Amino acid sequence: MPRARASATSSNTSSSPESVAPSAALDQALGTLHGVGPARAAAFAAVGLHTVRDLLLHLPHKFTALPHPQPIARLAAGSDAAIVGRVARIVPSRRRQGATRIDVEDASGTLALVFFHQPHVGSAFARGAFVYALGRVGDRDGKRFLAVGTYEFVAAQDSGRPAAALPIYALPDAVPPRLHRRLVRGLSESLAPLLDDWRVTTALSADELLPLGRAVAAIHGCADEVELAAARRRLAYDEFVHHLRPLVAARAQVERSIKPDVVRVGADEFDRLRAALPFTLTRAQRRVLDEVFADLARPMPMHRLLHGDVGSGKTAIALLAAAAVVRAGHQAALLAPTALLADQHARTAQRVMATLRVPCATLTAATTARERKQLHARLAAGEPLLLIGTHALLVERVALPRLRLAVVDEQHRFGVVQRGRLRAKASAVDLLVMSATPIPRTLALAVFGDLEVSALDELPPGRAPVATQVRERRELKAVADDIRDVARSGGRVFVVCPLVAQSEQQDLIAAETLATKLSTYFKGQPRVGLAHGRRKPEDNAAALAAFRSGAAPVLVATLVVEVGVDVPEATLMVVVDAARFGLAALHQLRGRVGRGARASRCILVAKDGKPESRERLDVLVDEHDGLVIAQKDLEVRGPGQIAGSRQHGVLDFGFADLARDVDLLARAQQDLRRLLDAADVRAIEQALRASPSALRARVAATASVGPG
Ligand code: ADP
Ligand code: MG
Repeated sequence: MPRARASATSSNTSSSPESVAPSAALDQALGTLHGVGPARAAAFAAVGLHTVRDLLLHLPHKFTALPHPQPIARLAAGSDAAIVGRVARIVPSRRRQGATRIDVEDASGTLALVFFHQPHVGSAFARGAFVYALGRVGDRDGKRFLAVGTYEFVAAQDSGRPAAALPIYALPDAVPPRLHRRLVRGLSESLAPLLDDWRVTTALSADELLPLGRAVAAIHGCADEVELAAARRRLAYDEFVHHLRPLVAARAQVERSIKPDVVRVGADEFDRLRAALPFTLTRAQRRVLDEVFADLARPMPMHRLLHGDVGSGKTAIALLAAAAVVRAGHQAALLAPTALLADQHARTAQRVMATLRVPCATLTAATTARERKQLHARLAAGEPLLLIGTHALLVERVALPRLRLAVVDEQHRFGVVQRGRLRAKASAVDLLVMSATPIPRTLALAVFGDLEVSALDELPPGRAPVATQVRERRELKAVADDIRDVARSGGRVFVVCPLVAQSEQQDLIAAETLATKLSTYFKGQPRVGLAHGRRKPEDNAAALAAFRSGAAPVLVATLVVEVGVDVPEATLMVVVDAARFGLAALHQLRGRVGRGARASRCILVAKDGKPESRERLDVLVDEHDGLVIAQKDLEVRGPGQIAGSRQHGVLDFGFADLARDVDLLARAQQDLRRLLDAADVRAIEQALRASPSALRARVAATASVGPG
């Protein structure tokens, strides 16, 4: 038995540095274990598991909760339940694929355990043995039976359940789960406590977090819920540390670099900048500008995230910061996720920048080759100006020798990877990243852990909440009449159709179909425009211009209007098949209206008779705080939806939960910062190599290069 072998090497649990035995036991090749022959060892190796240490660090990805057993007589048909019984009779399957039946009894009665599709299961059972079985209680001709999902042998009738839960592992096919569990349970009791704890190795203080070895043992053993919960916390913390390490290291790197110039904005200059805006700054905007200007004046580069609710006025921050930098003789860049938004920023900037005598240039896909060449020359010569463009500027080879500030708008379309690319391109540049939505604290830490955070937590005065209602598809005709009335009385109406990756084609047709249908229904009055990602940028720009001017006051669009589009005359937002969107995205869409003086509305159209989706949409009827909505979305739909980073799987945790574990995440960040101050990155990387997360990353990498 592996247990016997393990205990022979684990007598010295104090693991004094002189004793080599613990690490030798952990470094044992898997093939030396009882029950692991060469074939199984090879199967383990193929997924990246080589030693006992690997096996211990390979943690379950799921757990089946094991309920307490009930007396057989009390089982109710149709429910899931567990029993403990003594094996009385074994009835092997008569056909190869037939069910095996095992009769068991307890003090209250007898019960047939039925095993489907396990023709050989009977051989594991012996008369008189006690078995814990969990399954669905069925009824055949008035006799109850248990269709067994999971079973374990126990010592006695009154043993109770064998554990609080059953760990489920990702395993190669050659390794039967039952064997694996037995193997790991035996090893982990004696050997897991010997695992090095990187927290201790890196001199992080002992505290209420379980030592790594105990957490690992508890996760494999699943003895009771309290211990499992404590183990989960420790492992979640480790996952956060593993995830944050590159972010915190990037941050430390930034803090060590020195800018060639700083920009100081005095009180007089601040007043001149402010006066160029057509409105008075909110208190929050002033505070954030103070933070940004303080960063500009500091020798180390700014790396700041600005988040705030839809319509909180983030653009004004970007423009004034850029103006200050250009007026001090430098170049600034404002990057938007779409050409539509870049054009809009250019329009807004033009007015403000003309007042401030700040030269502006726009560079998008629509810029002609000749203009482009001229512009490149001006930029390369170091002419101070504000360059506005799409994120594509990052990829294009644009020389910006005097670039001092880069503002990246609508970050949720702009992932961790691009941010790294930007940093590589301009390491000592001040960077201001603006998120389209307010970001729950955990997400801000997890995705933007390398950035300082500013929040615009106040809306400009006079904003009434957008009255929101949920309708159904069969009411579309009434909604269309509503759209027509609003448009004919001088308002503007957005009509948004969903666009989902796998059925893009179909949904584009849906947007086009709806535009045509509305147009026909309105008999050309009002005119209906169309904008979506498959059209040419100049066509979209023309549609938006016609929308702005009122020439085509109804705009049918896909998510291209989700972020940033700012048309103050828009008073009605209609979202078709709204349940296909996350709450945060809907709140974003709703933020496209309610920007002017007129009262605005939002109509969310749900599919007919789908109460669940209606219920979710109803959240938006009552709730208007973007942060609350984002937090709800995080809980319901997970982080990728809000952070826009799902494409990289970076927020794919096993034990950590971003909606719940704020404290652990903050703690992981603090600890890492402390470590990076005290030691160098390499030492920490070395220590972390012995963590379950590191193993998980290695196993994932091994598995993805292997066959299949
Ligand atoms: P977001 O934060 O969503 O990017 P914008 O910067 O587009 O918001 O601003 C939304 C609208 O509010 C714009 O029409 C802008 O002109 C206006 N706005 C911004 N700040 C103020 C303010 N302090 N007072 C009045 N209106 C403002
Ligand atoms: Mg914006």
